[in-house]
Amino acid sequence: WSKEHQSVEACLTEAVNHCRPFAQEGKPASYIPALANANASDLGICLMGCDGRIVHAGQWEKPFTMQSVSKVISFMLACVCQGISRVMEMVDVEPTGDAFNSIIRLESSQPGKPFNPMINAGAISISSMLPGRRPEDKVESLLQFYESLTGKRPRINEEVFSSEWETANRNRAIAHYLKDTGYLQTEVEEALEVYLKQCSIEVNTADLARIGIILSRDGYDPIQRKALFSKQIAKISKALMLTCGMYNASGKMAAFIGIPAKSGVSGGILATVPPRVGKNASFPFSDGCGIGIFAPAIDQAGNSVAGIKLLEWVANEWDLSVF
Ligand code: GLN
Repeated sequence: WSKEHQSVEACLTEAVNHCRPFAQEGKPASYIPALANANASDLGICLMGCDGRIVHAGQWEKPFTMQSVSKVISFMLACVCQGISRVMEMVDVEPTGDAFNSIIRLESSQPGKPFNPMINAGAISISSMLPGRRPEDKVESLLQFYESLTGKRPRINEEVFSSEWETANRNRAIAHYLKDTGYLQTEVEEALEVYLKQCSIEVNTADLARIGIILSRDGYDPIQRKALFSKQIAKISKALMLTCGMYNASGKMAAFIGIPAKSGVSGGILATVPPRVGKNASFPFSDGCGIGIFAPAIDQAGNSVAGIKLLEWVANEWDLSVF
């Protein structure tokens, strides 16, 4: 742990204290009853470099459910197992400008084909493509993929899963429409079970930071020293994160922060910073880093309010925009 790491950690602690009050501008998601009780003033961050060293601040160790952050990981696994061209037959890679759970465009140009795998429609379609026949086999292959990425087998938060399963009317409607138009490879209830279980996988910011550094290295895990997915899958995933990762606030994210990132309604953000020569010599992650953030109060679009503020602070402080 170098002096530079220490000074980054001190800066992060200061930034967390500065950004925490912004949570008041949002509130924890309540449409999923089990998420409504989250502590709105939690804010945590973890950065991991390619030597596996981490710096962190705030509630960085607190577990939370993946929610929409899971969409990137499931997309990668579907590409690994079914091949990119097969996956591209089932989902497009175009941003929508609509809310994450919108159904309005499903019936446009190519009836039923979801615009991208980061909106619910595309993610439910991808869940039905995961390896395995029964829902429990698909969930198992996903858990194993998480284990290969983070080094530990995650748990599924059953309370969050049942809470969402019981209230998933809109996702059920989307899944029925996908089934009707041929963009679901399983039965409706099976795809929903896989999708909602993937949303209920528990992680902390260090797990997200670790996935972020692997994406930064184009699928190569610098800690285990092996490739976990191809460079092409990494490039498509990062492009999708940048263009669609923050739902209908993705443009603002690209313009004012400039880091590929994916958010979820539990308040998690996964961000990936490519290797670069930062102009700030005191930043010890010039070979790239992964960033995990957690702060449960979200805005209208479904993104963590304090989390985005913190990511913006980090991007400005160390000049991390990819542009
Ligand atoms: N499980 C949530 C849903 O399907 C995920 C949404 C999100 O994080 N944006 O509504």
